[in-house]
Amino acid sequence: MKDTYGRTINYLRLSVTDRCNLRCGYCMPEEGVAALRHEEVLTYEELLAVATAAVSLGVSKIRVTGGEPLVRRGIVDFIARLAALPGSPEIVLTTNGLLLAEQAPALKAAGLARVNVSLDTLRSERFLAITRREGLEQVLAGIEAAEKAGLVPLKINVVPLLGVNSDEIADFARLTLAHPWEIRFIEYMPVSSGLAYSPERRMPAPAIYAELGRVGPLVPLNRDHDNGPAQLFRYPDSHGRIGLIPAVSSHFCDECNRLRVTADGRVRPCLLSDQEIDLRQHLRSGASVETVATILAEAILGKPAGHRIGADDFVPGRRRMHGIGG
Ligand code: SAM
Ligand code: SF4
Repeated sequence: MKDTYGRTINYLRLSVTDRCNLRCGYCMPEEGVAALRHEEVLTYEELLAVATAAVSLGVSKIRVTGGEPLVRRGIVDFIARLAALPGSPEIVLTTNGLLLAEQAPALKAAGLARVNVSLDTLRSERFLAITRREGLEQVLAGIEAAEKAGLVPLKINVVPLLGVNSDEIADFARLTLAHPWEIRFIEYMPVSSGLAYSPERRMPAPAIYAELGRVGPLVPLNRDHDNGPAQLFRYPDSHGRIGLIPAVSSHFCDECNRLRVTADGRVRPCLLSDQEIDLRQHLRSGASVETVATILAEAILGKPAGHRIGADDFVPGRRRMHGIGG
């Protein structure tokens, strides 16, 4: 379906939980947050109704996210039901990787196409500082298991923060010399207040690009519609590639193809706007899939032309990233 600005919306980011087994400083406060009550979270039946309605509107790719999607019980069966929807949409998942080693084979068998693993450091003590939990070895084991299970091409999301992990950009980039992975560097988005890092910690895309140049000459690749806003590069003879996502410093809203649904059943037409539509009340008062599709279509038509993050008058939103799904 097209929105009012002529953009085709074919990608749904579906959040299945707001809970997480990490506490990344750019996403959650150290003490955690009061998680949604069980009854506030959409059931798998309700999430499936949302996905079915979205597919009927032309959505062909669904990303399961959170919070941490692999902490929700029954996630493998849910993935299987998503993959079996009419039109066989592509099902992908974003995870912090902590529980990936044990679940990768079952996820693959259920029909998951591939995973994005979020990892901001390759050093154990820093992992603890950034995520406030132990677990680097588990994430690395998860990456290995995902690759072995065929959840490929594997993508690793890195959020560089000045003075925190910005000195590891070259180390991450070098991984593409030996592995067929896509390492994606995403600008820090100060989306909500009360996060551990001030907006000044954001490493702008040109500075990330300069760091990448220390590893070798970067060869630009054609943009690939599956990669959303990522600018793609590779090093000569590398096995993998680099993605650079200037989430703040350059607006790519005119190419936006996404719709987001939060774990508590709110449709968010834009990541960076607090405008939301309460789908849950309709789902719980017996709305048919057709009615859900009508509400999603209204949300699509309500997508703003663009966001204002980075502008002086940008006001951080109410929800933190774990409550939206990234
Ligand atoms: N827990 C899963 C994970 O970490 O991959 C999925 C949810 S997480 C909210 C999705 C993505 O959002 C992760 O790659 C994370 O690094 C990214 N993210 C969270 N807060 C962010 C922020 N303030 N700026 C940029 N990216 C952020
Ligand atoms: Fe959890 Fe992902 Fe947020 Fe980190 S970025 S706290 S892993 S939801």
